[in-house]
Amino acid sequence: MSDERSRIVALDKRRIWHPYTPMDDYRARVDPLVVAGAKGSWLFDLDGRRYLDGNASWWVCALGHNHPRLVAALKRQADTLCHSSLAGATHEGAALLAEALCQVAPDGLEHVFFSDDGSTAVEVAMKLALQYWAQNGRPSRRRFVALDGAFHGETLGVTALGGVEVFRRPFAGVLLDCVHVPSPAEDRAYERAFEAIDRIVRRDSDEIAAVVLEPLVQGASGMQIYEPAYLRAVRTLCDTCDVFLVADEVFTGYGRTGVMWACQHGGVSPDLLCTAKGFSGGMLPMAATLTTSRIFEGFLGTPERAFYYGHSFCGNPLGAAVAREVLRIYEEDKVVEGVRARAPRIAKAFAEMADLPGVVRTRALGMVGALDLEGGAGYLAGAGWRVYEEARRRGAYLRPLGNVVYVAPPLIISDEDLMLLLSIVRESVAAVATR
Ligand SMILES: *Cc1c(COP(=O)(O)O)cnc(C)c1O
Repeated sequence: MSDERSRIVALDKRRIWHPYTPMDDYRARVDPLVVAGAKGSWLFDLDGRRYLDGNASWWVCALGHNHPRLVAALKRQADTLCHSSLAGATHEGAALLAEALCQVAPDGLEHVFFSDDGSTAVEVAMKLALQYWAQNGRPSRRRFVALDGAFHGETLGVTALGGVEVFRRPFAGVLLDCVHVPSPAEDRAYERAFEAIDRIVRRDSDEIAAVVLEPLVQGASGMQIYEPAYLRAVRTLCDTCDVFLVADEVFTGYGRTGVMWACQHGGVSPDLLCTAKGFSGGMLPMAATLTTSRIFEGFLGTPERAFYYGHSFCGNPLGAAVAREVLRIYEEDKVVEGVRARAPRIAKAFAEMADLPGVVRTRALGMVGALDLEGGAGYLAGAGWRVYEEARRRGAYLRPLGNVVYVAPPLIISDEDLMLLLSIVRESVAAVATR
């Protein structure tokens, strides 16, 4: 290990409190990847080794790292305007971005509220739903419905929606009112899951502000994939009971599942749609919550009906310039079509891994492939980290979700790199299983 690397790791271990990381174990045992640079689908460490980025930098870099057009857009914007608020002011970048986003959004989403990241995009959706009902004749609607295994981010508000038990437990007793219903994913047949949500929403619709879900793929709980039919059924249920449907497309949006928005698999439009990650181009924190005209108009009238909310960086010019260039690249380079063309390779590779010893179950959709390892479910299980170590030795970065090993690479990964990534996954899983 080089001197420079040791110095950075020592400082890191002295000072940095890492996200989602048991720090005693990290400090005692983990030899972190020290990323010095990145390009496209590759990360480079300080010792000059390279690694395929199997999770697009925590799902953010859908267009890969340091896309030359995004870097250029950022630099151009930095020369003219780095910050402007949207408080009684506006700027070209935010206005053009909002227009471009509505052009590609599911039907009926006409207004854009900017915030910083995925968590705040969902937080905004929750507050909009609560305030809408409070001032539009249904003040008893204060509860949310979310799915078991759901993940919607980090703020205290959205933590209430989360269905991963270990993330919620420390905050028991102080979370907003949320009912969790069975997840429709995988072996839990979606019809049965739908019966449960149907019963609860019909019975308690006077108290329910919104149903919040990750359309088609529950990411953080282990890339759990479910049927579009469930989404359609929930949309109809929400229409019948006049309850809002919030689609958290922070992970699934921007082509990850083979269409621009995962909602489109079910042919549905939500009342509120949250986007971040791919939307940001992985350059600056940037997020948006899209709403219908009905919701927007529910905040008009007297001044106390306005939405008193706004982050200091909401719609910031640098992030907006990059996000606009992201949309241009999607259109000109046909990024989503590229996902559809390559998805079958991921599906095939993961289906074939089902036969490896130690693998319980596999699944894939679009640019996501996942497998469950034996040895217990749950976020704190250990076998996934052994696969991570094996993959790192072979030149890929594969952060697991407990015992779920998955790939969600940059959407622009080349065919050659994708095949390499998939073969590293296979070899690494096989190495752990036979050890
Ligand atoms: C990552 C994620 C979030 C939170 O986004 P941040 O940018 O990390 O705040 C919310 N919802 C889903 C579905 C996510 O995958």
